[in-house]
Amino acid sequence: MKKPFLERIKDAPFLCDGAMGTQLDAHGLEAGQCHEEWNVLQPEKVEQIHRAYIEAGAEAILTNTFGGTRWCLERYGFGGRVGEFNSAAVERARAVAGEERYVLGDVGPTAEFVYPLGKRKEEEFLEVFREQISFLAEGADAIAVQTMTALEELAAAVRAAKETGLPVIASMAFQPEVPGKGFRTIMGVAIEQMVRRLQEEGADVIGTNCGTVDIAEMVEIVRQMRELTALPIFAEANAGKPRLVGERTVFDQTPELMAEHVPALVEAGANIIGGCCGTTPEHIRAFAKRIGRGKK
Ligand SMILES: [Zn+2]
Repeated sequence: MKKPFLERIKDAPFLCDGAMGTQLDAHGLEAGQCHEEWNVLQPEKVEQIHRAYIEAGAEAILTNTFGGTRWCLERYGFGGRVGEFNSAAVERARAVAGEERYVLGDVGPTAEFVYPLGKRKEEEFLEVFREQISFLAEGADAIAVQTMTALEELAAAVRAAKETGLPVIASMAFQPEVPGKGFRTIMGVAIEQMVRRLQEEGADVIGTNCGTVDIAEMVEIVRQMRELTALPIFAEANAGKPRLVGERTVFDQTPELMAEHVPALVEAGANIIGGCCGTTPEHIRAFAKRIGRGKK
């Protein structure tokens, strides 16, 4: 029997998986296709990606549900299939993870904003997250709210996730440090504001992923978070800063180059590490070696 998630992550560095989105693209998902639809359309390919990460040494995999809220799915005409896509994602992940490894139910931003910036009310965010998370909670070991840039939206997702009784990870995407302003999200949220609010909301793990920083900058973000909190910290960097090549965004930092920063990330205070956009099973394998988890 595996340990409860929150106990396990306090023992030693915990390794998550790498990117799902860019792996789906690599497995033939076409531009403009809905990622979550693949949970029912191409379930064997979703499982194949999960399996490659487990074989690389990941102890946890994130469900393919980053855009699984009603508001995101509505943009593809799938607003009525929230339960179907999210439940299928949990089943696919659980089938690969088995009972020995962990499944984290992934929740991403909705691309909607709270009034007056956008047209939505905070209660609407809460409802939309509650709906998605109710399906994730059926088989996940924890809920991972990721890549958030607005504090109100993140708080609503954390609140909805806390209602399930599962451990909740809450992570924001930062931009490079600006002198005098520090690291902030694109919506202007500073690390200190984030940490204070998430502690009030009762998040079990806080952290950072994605954004326009690289893993070296993420080491510094984690160091600053660690000065402000004793909570476990989650850190998943992209494979380098996003680069525009023609019309495509590419992430091309090699596994070796990224993995060189892994000891510093752990030293700075990260308890959970993994990869975001552009990372592959090879990146996770290189991370596993660095934390002494590599298969001999
Ligand atoms: Zn990312």
